[in-house]
Amino acid sequence: MRVTVGDISNALEEFAPLNYQEAYDNSGLLVGDRHQEVKSCLLSIDCTIEVVEEAIAKKCQMIVSHHPIVFSGLKSLTGKNHIEQAVIAAIKNKISLYACHTNLDNIRYGVNDKIAEKLGLTNARILLKKSATLSKIITYLPELNLAEIQAAIHQEGAGQLGNYDFCSFRVGGVGTFRALDGANPSMGQIGKIHEESEVKLEVLCQNKDVNKVLKSMIQAHPYEEVAYDIIAVQNQWEMGSGLIGELAEEMDPNDFLEYLKKTMQCEVVKYVPISKNIKKIALCGGAGSFLVKKAMAAGADAFITSDMKYHEFFSAEKSMMICDIGHYESEKYTTEIFAKVLSDKFPNFATLFSETNTNPIKYYTK
Ligand SMILES: [Zn+2]
Repeated sequence: MRVTVGDISNALEEFAPLNYQEAYDNSGLLVGDRHQEVKSCLLSIDCTIEVVEEAIAKKCQMIVSHHPIVFSGLKSLTGKNHIEQAVIAAIKNKISLYACHTNLDNIRYGVNDKIAEKLGLTNARILLKKSATLSKIITYLPELNLAEIQAAIHQEGAGQLGNYDFCSFRVGGVGTFRALDGANPSMGQIGKIHEESEVKLEVLCQNKDVNKVLKSMIQAHPYEEVAYDIIAVQNQWEMGSGLIGELAEEMDPNDFLEYLKKTMQCEVVKYVPISKNIKKIALCGGAGSFLVKKAMAAGADAFITSDMKYHEFFSAEKSMMICDIGHYESEKYTTEIFAKVLSDKFPNFATLFSETNTNPIKYYTK
């Protein structure tokens, strides 16, 4: 079976749709040609120059990493820093670069579920569900113009729901209007009440896309005055930040620290001590300090994350053990998710775990 860069990208995006990534993120195919054949793919947390060199040595045509090597754009490509060096080496060696970052953080069975699985948590659920990211756009249009207006709306991103697009609902009816002096009606006559066979069309739309969808819709609409409603949608989705669950049995704080260090293979755990046993665990792979209050409100005995600042350690008021296990350590098992997704989809396809430890932080413990 011939597997291409596009096939791998599609498999990863079926699992973690790109529209679930945060607005600041840059997940997806960063470098490469979707039609290129991939015989083996290297899986890594970061894409560094060392990882690209490993891919060259192991004859991999693609690197799938959690963190995007290109994050905020490149204005030139001259090899002046480690990012450009990695990108140039990848292009020269025909290696495609793909990143699956905050979309993998936000889905229910992504980065955080992998940590929960390692720790053996039960009853795991999203800690901070996403809400208020969508609007519903409702418009009224002549039946005859349905196809073109619908195309205009969907091409700008409205009507996407997980791995479906072109999602809409419509119902037929009769619209009425009377054009007054000064109007330039495309249907009906000045001064006469007009009845038109219309369709009421409803689509969901990400808030960030609302303006461009409206612009495209109004351009395609024959009416001089287009009637539409924008409604804020408050639905919460089974996606979002962090996870909370329970240990099989409650643990003494010291036993828990030992268990955490061993399970997540950390050299160091930075923590705030508490004097109660640990059962309920909140966690967030990567930088999760924004979830401390949420974890406390959810009754967590411990919160596992990374990148905590000094003052943030005070915020748990000693009622919850904050454990900073390191950014790399918290996400190091993420590559197992990529391997599972790709081996389920392409059973005979070779995925290799990178052997490069890309953690830029070392611990001096002597
Ligand atoms: Zn991260």
